[in-house]
Amino acid sequence: MKILIVGAGLFGAVCAHEFAKAGHRCTVIEKRSHIGGNVFTRYIPEADCHEHVYGAHIFHTNSKKIWDYVNQFAEFNHYVNRVKVDCGSGIYSFPINLFTLYQVYGVRTPDEARARLEQALVPNATPANMEEYCLSAIGEDLYQIFIEGYTQKQWGRHPRELPADVVKRLPVRFTFDDNYFNDRYQGIPVGGYTAIIEKMLAGADVRLNVDFNADREDWISQYDKVVYTGPIDAFFDYRHGTLEYRSLRFERELLPVSDFQGNAVMNYSRREVPWTRIIEHKHFDMKLNAPNTLITREYPDAWTVGKTEYYPLNNPSTDMLFRRYRDAAEELAPKIHFGGRLAEYRYYDMHQIVGSALSLCDRLGEGRSSM
Ligand code: UDP
Repeated sequence: MKILIVGAGLFGAVCAHEFAKAGHRCTVIEKRSHIGGNVFTRYIPEADCHEHVYGAHIFHTNSKKIWDYVNQFAEFNHYVNRVKVDCGSGIYSFPINLFTLYQVYGVRTPDEARARLEQALVPNATPANMEEYCLSAIGEDLYQIFIEGYTQKQWGRHPRELPADVVKRLPVRFTFDDNYFNDRYQGIPVGGYTAIIEKMLAGADVRLNVDFNADREDWISQYDKVVYTGPIDAFFDYRHGTLEYRSLRFERELLPVSDFQGNAVMNYSRREVPWTRIIEHKHFDMKLNAPNTLITREYPDAWTVGKTEYYPLNNPSTDMLFRRYRDAAEELAPKIHFGGRLAEYRYYDMHQIVGSALSLCDRLGEGRSSM
């Protein structure tokens, strides 16, 4: 079969690998000038590290299958994400754990912490938005220090106007465990993500700087099947209106110091600080010897057509609009399939992208014969 994959990000690359393994002829087209989508990394010799060009990417999963799958393509280091939050008056341990509660309340034991937090909570069995949820789960103090300002910057809306779902990703612990993720497996590929994507795409014909949506019908007519990983509303020329997204802007700086902030990720929770976080790339590679370091400030940005879509803004009204697009997409099956963060309009992490791509390959019968 001749298969066209639109988008050389993680979803498209996994599909390309599986299809090529099953003996199909695969073409991957990508509108950017490089492969990898938002997991793209590049080596920066001055700082001896791989730059996460579109923001921090830490691979984590609870699934041994998915962990084994990605480990076919690279060795992963033992990086564990331990974020710190600069809230102006100090630096705090995050996600909320016993050390955070010690820093905020002076409590020293899990029982003391539970009892102190209990006093701060605003019980609410049916929180209607993120603010109400946070007040019922972590109380006013922690909400104000860590969530309110950061979230307003990140999503461009007050937590009162947002659903609670996105903060539910963050753990709250009564131990000193400050791992950002609860997953069993975690790490960053030695040599960067681009090398993984290159391996996945090895059996495909890859063409960069190609805008599929500008010439859609022509591309589709030349192939037996198409996997589209771009924004679903763009595929349909926004015929029902645009979905909502959040965009990002990055400011990078190469500094003549060996270690700028002592950690890979520093969040800035105050509303007045315009960026949400600073990442220092060499910490992801766990190699600190180079005399220089590369940092990136991440600024949330309003999305309009033409800007890069980073995050879907899932809420009841965008989800309803998405379902209209999904219904239109389903009418194009079995020839055209939609997958990935933008085509499925889901706030997926990398492991979920791999899972979703593999299940698409399974459904198409091009599954993982070797797994
Ligand atoms: N969040 C916050 N303060 C923080 C970190 C996260 O309020 O210091 C909230 C914010 O709403 C964010 C959500 O938790 O969008 C999820 O955070 P995560 O770090 O998982 O987001 P990502 O890395 O995907 O941008």
